[in-house]
Amino acid sequence: MEQYNVEQKIQDFIADIEARNPNEPEFLQAVKEVAVTVIPFIAAHSQYDGKKLLERMAEPERTIIFRVPWVDDSGEIQVNRGFRIQMNSAIGPYKGGIRFHPTVNLSVLKFLAFEQTFKNSLTTLPMGGGKGGADFDPQGKSDMEIMRFCQAFMTELCKHIGPETDVPAGDIGVGAREIGYLFGQYKKIRNEFTGVLTGKGLAYGGSLIRPEATGYGVVYFCEQMLKTIGQDIKGKTFAVSGFGNVAWGVVKKVTELGGKVLTISGPDGYIYDEDGISGDKIDYLLQLRASGNNRAEDYATKYPSAKFFAGKRPWEVKCDVAIPAATQNELFLEDAEMLVANGVICVTEAANMPSTLDAINYFLDNKVLFSPGKASNAGGVATSGLEMTQNSIRLNWSSEEVDMRLKEIMIGIHKACSDYGKDKDGYVNYVKGANIAGFVKVAEAMLAQGVV
Ligand code: GLU
Repeated sequence: MEQYNVEQKIQDFIADIEARNPNEPEFLQAVKEVAVTVIPFIAAHSQYDGKKLLERMAEPERTIIFRVPWVDDSGEIQVNRGFRIQMNSAIGPYKGGIRFHPTVNLSVLKFLAFEQTFKNSLTTLPMGGGKGGADFDPQGKSDMEIMRFCQAFMTELCKHIGPETDVPAGDIGVGAREIGYLFGQYKKIRNEFTGVLTGKGLAYGGSLIRPEATGYGVVYFCEQMLKTIGQDIKGKTFAVSGFGNVAWGVVKKVTELGGKVLTISGPDGYIYDEDGISGDKIDYLLQLRASGNNRAEDYATKYPSAKFFAGKRPWEVKCDVAIPAATQNELFLEDAEMLVANGVICVTEAANMPSTLDAINYFLDNKVLFSPGKASNAGGVATSGLEMTQNSIRLNWSSEEVDMRLKEIMIGIHKACSDYGKDKDGYVNYVKGANIAGFVKVAEAMLAQGVV
């Protein structure tokens, strides 16, 4: 009877979310994953039951959608759509990245903002959840076009953000260069020099290790996962997707710890380098990203030890550990089946929601170590939190200090996930653990602050 009630509650909740958010498949996917793990927990804890906590968390506190008009190099007027989703401010100012990519829409940013709330809670730092972006395609744009677009975007966004209100950062398509242009425009319009953005350059308030932080954090988390089965990174083979900032940090740290990275990928396909991606090949990833041409194939042209597989995903490669580090929904059920058939022991997500729900369930059913991005990629935003701290105290910490804090935070997140996610047979369900641990802190703050 009790079980039936919980199942019914989950179904009713999802039906309501579906009805209120039509045409938002990514957002629904993210909310469903949380609902199936958190609703049973709420039902079993009377302090949270009947307070509509998850309903409130799934409704953004504020959604800002705005026109971004700008002029391209040929003098043509262009119009893009800008967004900022201010999802939840129960535990701190809204915090989360800005994504510039043609796939950006309300559904994608709502899923990202929803996940960000749980992720930021897991870091233990005082940051609420937010996300923003535009359907602007940086591919093939000149530096001046990027600058004009960033200025046009910030001209509106600056009315809604601030160091105590909402602190954006980078995401796909937004790196150090874009953050610089966004910061410059904010400072010019608001006439204040504050820590309103993170991921800043070192010369104007950025933090050491922030560029590496997401990837390093993923590997520190992966290390903890492997430790639960008495294994470590050394000697393991890794399949990594993507070739952006996150993949770069992952490759760097895995190689440093004695693992071998066999693949990276782009929208054109993946490369397989049987010698491993190490040494100057890692620096080449930075060049590849900066070149703005979006082609993984160039790696195989430069390094003949690598083979290029056009139009394919790297999950068909035999590896010990898989690290999806590209984007949402890039690892499907058939990929999960292939990875498991090839003996994968651990899947550590580095992107946000890279695995589909049925792929996740397949990993869990097969008792593969599996961690969701909201736990294992939290090192990026955690180090943004450390950048905010350094800005507030007007000091810069050494890389050793930031790296040490990052590692401590990742070990803490792993412990929180294990505490809430351990099944009776000892298997850690990191999806359940991350969702519940992330939920509890936000829920406590919301309960204390009343219905606002
Ligand atoms: N975009 C990153 C994320 O998905 C970082 C956000 C931040 O540093 O605020 O967590």
